[in-house]
Amino acid sequence: RATNAVLQMDGIDTYYQNGQVLFDVSLSVRPGEIVALVGRNGAGKTTTLRSIMGLTPPRSGQVLHRGEDITGQGPDTIRRNGISWVPEERRIFPDLTVEENLRIAQSSGDDTDTSFVYDRFPRLDERRGQLAGTMSGGEQQMLAIARGLLGPSLDVLLLDEPSEGLAPSIVKDVAETIRTLKDDGVTMILVEQNAEMALELADYAYVIQTGEIVYQSDADQFRSNQSLMQQYLGV
Ligand code: ATP
Repeated sequence: RATNAVLQMDGIDTYYQNGQVLFDVSLSVRPGEIVALVGRNGAGKTTTLRSIMGLTPPRSGQVLHRGEDITGQGPDTIRRNGISWVPEERRIFPDLTVEENLRIAQSSGDDTDTSFVYDRFPRLDERRGQLAGTMSGGEQQMLAIARGLLGPSLDVLLLDEPSEGLAPSIVKDVAETIRTLKDDGVTMILVEQNAEMALELADYAYVIQTGEIVYQSDADQFRSNQSLMQQYLGV
């Protein structure tokens, strides 16, 4: 798996004040792939992304970005080098318009225009002037993803539970958005409790349980094996 990785974690141990949360986590993502990280509530999915971004720096192990050791770098440096994180809580500014939310996402001095984002997300284009907080949950998620695409040269997009809190019909829209990004060649890690959605989109999958990677395989192979799905995800 490790060959030719855009992003690789190798033996990562991460702690919060109250103890260790990730145990020897290793994973890798190749160019243009969607890698799914699935597991139950509290398994350590968000912490894995935080460890990559330098928000909760690992105590041991390495994070490599295109072969370069980025462990211990701060989130701003990591973002500038092209790793972008769309957090679980979406964190859009409800009282600002869609356009304003997108402009804020651009780094200061960066005047790349937002038009490529509007080309990708026609629904946001129609709503440029609308206050973000008045949009539907699915539209807000699209805005959060769109914002993740802006700023310094995107190389890998980390998506934390994009389906969370959305009705099944809206989850389909978000899945479609993610599929379009993949078609455009965007490399992604997709963290999801909604394993069905994640495995349908992903090339490769990891299952995390209480901070350990307990299973990994091609996503299709995993998805088509009912007993593995039952064993690891209870579905
Ligand atoms: P969820 O889907 O609920 O977000 P998750 O798989 O993303 O779950 P994490 O959020 O990574 O799981 O949490 C893993 C463990 O770390 C949990 O036991 C959680 O309580 C703990 N944890 C998460 N954030 C912190 C924090 N800031 N301080 C202390 N413990 C934390």
